[in-house]
Amino acid sequence: MFDPNELKKVIELHQKSYNLFLWLNKKLKDFGRRSKEHTLFDEVHEKVSFYKGCFAWISRHFGEFPHDARPAESEIEPFAYLFTSFLTTSFIVTDKVRVSDGCPCPFCTFFYDITAFQVRNPDKKARLRAEKLKARYIEKLDREAELPSVPSNIEEWIPENPELSRDISLATYAQELIRRSKFTSQGEAILALWREIAWKDNHLDKKFKLSAKAIIHAESRILEKLTD
Ligand SMILES: [Zn+2]
Repeated sequence: MFDPNELKKVIELHQKSYNLFLWLNKKLKDFGRRSKEHTLFDEVHEKVSFYKGCFAWISRHFGEFPHDARPAESEIEPFAYLFTSFLTTSFIVTDKVRVSDGCPCPFCTFFYDITAFQVRNPDKKARLRAEKLKARYIEKLDREAELPSVPSNIEEWIPENPELSRDISLATYAQELIRRSKFTSQGEAILALWREIAWKDNHLDKKFKLSAKAIIHAESRILEKLTD
């Protein structure tokens, strides 16, 4: 079950990582991506993983980030996980990318050429995977709440309770958000969940905001139904 404090913290970091993306994007546009004027991408990282490049980059530059996009020093690790997870689940990086004079690590390469990334759309496989994540969330909730009896087939129980559909999407998204602050991401399934909670009529609902309170309420409605 969710710990309200942990939720609040992870939601705040998630928001900051999104703010960082906006800030960075604007900065790169203003400077021109390949400009040598800015020093945001002038160090070279080990050509290891997207996460490690990102972690090294954030550790070096976080003091330059605006306040609403800056993690505390002790939070750089979960912040870097959330930031890389956001980037890799939201965009496809094509292999057209070529870096001639920048850092060759996967993270810096990502920002080098704007034409190299396209917005992702979750496909059928991603949506199926999202359904599995929902079942996994309910199973975990079952275990933690030590319910006396549980539905024998959770994957069937979910669509049998359509009034809980949004609550389950929201709680599962929150569950994965916490996981994503510790490990690498569950990929496009997260994007499918995000569309289920933050999109309306095929567009991002600009008023949507992740809130710990709404998530806790969603979870208690699910629990209530499970104990019915
Ligand atoms: Zn790099």
